Amino acid sequence: MSSIRRLSDDVVRHIAAGEVIERPSSVLKELVENSLDAGASKIQVDVLGAGKKLLRVADDGAGLPPEDCRLAFERHATSKIASLQDLQRLATFGFRGEALFSIAAVSRTALTSCSGRKGWTVEIEGGRLAAEHEAAPVRGTVIEVRDLFFNTPARLKFLKSDVSERGHLTRVLEEAALANPDVSFSLKTEGRASLRLEPGAGREVPDRTAERVAAVLGDGLREGLLRIQDSFGVRGRLLAFLAPLEALSPSRNLQFFFVNRRPISSRVLQQALYRAYEPHRSRGRHPVAVVYIELPPDAFDVNVHPAKRELRFREDRSVFEALAGACSGALLRSKGIPTLDKGFPAFPGVRESVIPYGPPAAPALPELDLSPAPGPSAASARTRITPPPHAPRWFAPPFRFLGQVESSYLVFDAAGGLLVVDQHAAQERILFEKYAAELEEGKVRSQKLLLPLSLDIPASQLLAVLSRAQRLRRAGFEVEAFGKTTLQVIAAPALFHSAADLRDMIHGVLDHLLSEGSAAADVQRHALATFACKAAVKAHDPLGPPEALRLLEDLKDCRDGTCCPHGRPSMISLNRDELARRFKRPGPPPL
Ligand code: ADP
Ligand code: MG
Repeated sequence: MSSIRRLSDDVVRHIAAGEVIERPSSVLKELVENSLDAGASKIQVDVLGAGKKLLRVADDGAGLPPEDCRLAFERHATSKIASLQDLQRLATFGFRGEALFSIAAVSRTALTSCSGRKGWTVEIEGGRLAAEHEAAPVRGTVIEVRDLFFNTPARLKFLKSDVSERGHLTRVLEEAALANPDVSFSLKTEGRASLRLEPGAGREVPDRTAERVAAVLGDGLREGLLRIQDSFGVRGRLLAFLAPLEALSPSRNLQFFFVNRRPISSRVLQQALYRAYEPHRSRGRHPVAVVYIELPPDAFDVNVHPAKRELRFREDRSVFEALAGACSGALLRSKGIPTLDKGFPAFPGVRESVIPYGPPAAPALPELDLSPAPGPSAASARTRITPPPHAPRWFAPPFRFLGQVESSYLVFDAAGGLLVVDQHAAQERILFEKYAAELEEGKVRSQKLLLPLSLDIPASQLLAVLSRAQRLRRAGFEVEAFGKTTLQVIAAPALFHSAADLRDMIHGVLDHLLSEGSAAADVQRHALATFACKAAVKAHDPLGPPEALRLLEDLKDCRDGTCCPHGRPSMISLNRDELARRFKRPGPPPL
């Protein structure tokens, strides 16, 4: 690293500097980043009094020569940038040359550092030099920050409880550890070791990152973590680790985002993650994920906020789509279907036929084995049936429709196990996907209504709706004004054309159309889900075998047939082995 010098006023003005030291964790963040910038491979942190009494960070990085130790505390003194151009292609964490200055102004700080043969200590109290002297020549840097905010009592009062401040401190260290899997970190809180992370043994960086992710998120997740590696755009790369769907969390804090290994907050990335989980998530359950994005330095701007957490992508859209797409693909692939017993694997790979019964095969269901029941010697009927390529994991033909329970659940014999389908949820999913596909392709089939539907709405809304008539037409609706306060719906999407409560549905669509604030895509998706729900067969509709099997077949073609668009499961299974296990048989009975 080059030597320290003052930034010119011009550069200083271009830096979004500001108050960066808000609480102990902001101090820790700056100190750890300095250690990382100095190339440390080992960082040890000690905390007393939740960081208010003492924060001590020791590293084995490059260190500073004696003559630079004092300079490090001067405002806008940095060894990391010299010009405005440098700002644009920043690779280090620090760059404002302001952190040590600000920290030392509100505490009693001592820095001991050594880069060669001589060590040096500088002590600063409330921004004033208190002492400096030679120190032992131990390579690296130790910074001790005592009595934070001792001279600014107002800020001390502003701090939260010790528990909460300690939480912030731990978060800072977890983020640093996730971003730097090859660096060892340890944290001692009030004298006790509370975190210890050694570099993993994996050969490639992504492997070692995976080990670090598991160590930070909890070893329980080690096995199930889904790993995504992808590239996007011109030079974008993505590495992400997702906890499996069974391990969604009640807390939304287990989401970490990094851009070029810098921890950041980004609504774009967070929304992309939630988008991917949307079909699988119920209310109050949140994704657990660690996401690393690599981008060329000119593809984003970090200099938005003095704490450098907020970041602007030059191309929001491509980053959003890369993350949402990759994650949703990985989640779908990972998804078996929920079994009655959590953790038990869904259907095993190989299926054999069972003795079929039921009506002859409907022509629409060629894959399903519905041939007439053979006689008592059924051995010859044991043909192997392979699911069609690209079929989801749960799709294990042959299926046999056993009947309907509560007029709402369809029960199937599926290769000797049981498959129970919620007919309403299933139908919802199917309609949802069909309509979504039509919308996506811009080919919504629309159908004229025999009798136009008249809706009375306020004149102001009528105008607003008419001004969006084009959008409505793309969604399959044709509308026109009829007087000042009446809207006539002349045509509706063919899929929903015969829905009993078309009127309600259209009201719903108009609400979404007129609601401001939410992103267009979200509005559309939500409207879709509600739509599909309303138009779907209601529970209590009697279904016969052909309709029931047709439903399975349609579900198979869905991107995710295992739950409804709102995230409720649409099916549960109890496979052959599981049945045997529950009845305490040594193994499944021979077919
Ligand atoms: P910045 O990190 O923005 O440059 P800081 O106030 O955080 O500003 O640090 C000022 C300078 O002090 C850094 O540029 C670096 O040269 C030096 N420094 C700070 N901490 C360390 C450390 N742990 N090891 C080596 N050098 C350090
Ligand atoms: Mg710094």
